Amino acid sequence: MGFLVKQECPQCGGPVELKETDHILQCPYCNVKSFLFSSEPFRFVLPHDTKNKEILYVPYLRFRGVCYACLARSVRYRILDITRLALPLKRFPISLGLRPQAMKMRFLSYATEGSFLKCFLNTSEMLIKTEKQFFATIREDIYHKAYVGEAINLIYLPLYFEKGALFDAITQRPVARLPRDREKFSSVTENVPPWQLTFLATLCPGCGWNMEGEKDSVVLTCPNCETAWEAKSGGFVSVDFFSVLNDDPDLTYLPFWKMSVRTEGININTFADFMEITNQPRVVQKSWHHKDMAFWAPAFKIRPKLFLAISRYLTLAYEDFEGQRMLPDQLRHPVTLPVAEAIQAIKVTLADATVNKKDIVPRLPETSTAVKSATLVYLPFRKTGHDMIQIQTGLAINRKSLEFGRYL
Ligand SMILES: [Zn+2]
Ligand SMILES: [Zn+2]
Repeated sequence: MGFLVKQECPQCGGPVELKETDHILQCPYCNVKSFLFSSEPFRFVLPHDTKNKEILYVPYLRFRGVCYACLARSVRYRILDITRLALPLKRFPISLGLRPQAMKMRFLSYATEGSFLKCFLNTSEMLIKTEKQFFATIREDIYHKAYVGEAINLIYLPLYFEKGALFDAITQRPVARLPRDREKFSSVTENVPPWQLTFLATLCPGCGWNMEGEKDSVVLTCPNCETAWEAKSGGFVSVDFFSVLNDDPDLTYLPFWKMSVRTEGININTFADFMEITNQPRVVQKSWHHKDMAFWAPAFKIRPKLFLAISRYLTLAYEDFEGQRMLPDQLRHPVTLPVAEAIQAIKVTLADATVNKKDIVPRLPETSTAVKSATLVYLPFRKTGHDMIQIQTGLAINRKSLEFGRYL
């Protein structure tokens, strides 16, 4: 479950409430949009009302995402949502419980007063434990695992010292006796906030126009010069894209990542290689030997079962879409899954699409993938009662699942 964050507008100081999944702060007072950027995981603090006490902030690492496991006969998955104490000190509560959901958090900033314990746990260490629980239920060899759609952040719990004990600054209850070796403690403490969020103005780097994007968008578009942009190392970089244009005003466009890939180990370079190696029940056509292999994935968050099904469907369809580097005029679903996450899913899609899994999946560990290029593709869909139907390929996506995906 996601949480809420309180943040002042960097332009006018007006109070704004954000969802954990938001990337854009749109101020309702001055109407200015700012993109929230950090090259590291976001850091949040739990708010407290304790006055005149020296606050010690203790870090917890949080992970939200889907873990996929490729087995000899199937692909399994589990949605993970874990928060764990991020340093090896036994005195603190191991988890934050329901607090992040129950309270409105704030971003850590240089204005946060107190001292901060350093984070020692890294995500992969934390995941090893959780993985074990998931993998223990499988009881089969796992040949490949991947994490997709991850949100990783740090949440600080505020504590203070009093009468030889550490107190929770939110509940005012003691959480631990004071360690005798307090010096040891101070060697892992920083006295200035170790992180601050960067607000990027959402102006097109190409022409200076205001870019478009919904709160949860990770790719912004410029309606003036017809370009697409994603945030990287403190600025916006151009995203290659095309749209399959259609005059029908009632259509809706959904975004996908098309990734041109060459794999080694299991050698796939063309679509013909892919169809032969994965043993598809279709006769390989001559032209397929000249088509570079491309894996597809939704560029939006959606339940893992559908994520797999959509990726497989479009990868196998290998439609020759006629696209143009223009933004469609019709409604567009926001890009909520960055290309870096879609790339994580390439081997999973390979395993999932393979008919003769037991011959191919065990070879995944020694298979490497090289992404030659990645393109954002806007495809037109027609709305029906329950589904969205892709015009060229007939791919159907449940409308409710599409909406629900925005909260993942
Ligand atoms: Zn404002
Ligand atoms: Zn522009």
